[in-house]
Amino acid sequence: MSELQIENISMRFDLPNGTHVQALKNVSMTLKEGEIMSVLGPSGCGKTTLLNIVAGFLAPTEGRIVLGGKPIKGPAPERGMVFQKGALFEWMNVRENVDFGPRMKGMPKKQRDEISDHLLEVVGLRDFKEKAVYELSGGMQQRVALARCLANEPDVILMDEPLGALDALTREKMQGLVLKLWKETGKTIILITHSVEEALLLGERLVVMAPRPGRIHKEYNLPFAEMGV
Ligand code: ADP
Ligand code: ADP
Repeated sequence: MSELQIENISMRFDLPNGTHVQALKNVSMTLKEGEIMSVLGPSGCGKTTLLNIVAGFLAPTEGRIVLGGKPIKGPAPERGMVFQKGALFEWMNVRENVDFGPRMKGMPKKQRDEISDHLLEVVGLRDFKEKAVYELSGGMQQRVALARCLANEPDVILMDEPLGALDALTREKMQGLVLKLWKETGKTIILITHSVEEALLLGERLVVMAPRPGRIHKEYNLPFAEMGV
């Protein structure tokens, strides 16, 4: 069981002028394997900081992240990140983007192609494999980002407002896709969003964070994700 434990995380940024920002204070939560949790909170309450700590990009001032019983040390493919936008490799085509992780692992081309064929099918981009990233709409680019993340076979997917830059209709379609992926892959997902509606629809659980210093204000169990959008 790859339970994800976020244990007593505090994060303090010391600034060059001698002051500091207490971004997070004693944040703890546990996600069971395969659970999807949404996180809501005002700007600046430390949502992105928390995700970066879980990803291993940032070391917390206090506390630790434990995945499957082992404390994490820095970034690793078991924890994948999907950003709001702009994180694709613009000089690679769609397949090469999805292919990136497996290629870095030295996987043979045939096997890599099978993986990217499958994932691009799943996200509805079968006919766009050879397109350049800049030829795609915003929604399609986020589909590539999801497929690229899945290609690394993460246990945990960290989503930092992945749908935040999309128009309403595309966003709705993508919410359906995120739910489908969650159900079909059984991944553990943390989803940061600014949309209350999205948080309610996509979370089995919802964490509402309080403003600085970021703390958990309240946690709710939700019925909607199980039912589908
Ligand atoms: P949110 O994602 O909820 O909007 P962030 O995690 O981006 O919040 O930021 C939380 C607080 O920490 C903010 O006050 C922000 O200015 C501060 N902060 C984030 N990253 C840094 C950094 N690298 N250096 C200094 N302060 C930072
Ligand atoms: P999505 O919801 O995937 O972002 P859009 O609503 O933006 O898709 O576009 C609907 C459809 O129009 C896409 O599935 C795609 O077939 C086509 N399309 C949109 N933008 C482009 C583009 N820049 N190049 C080629 N086809 C596009």
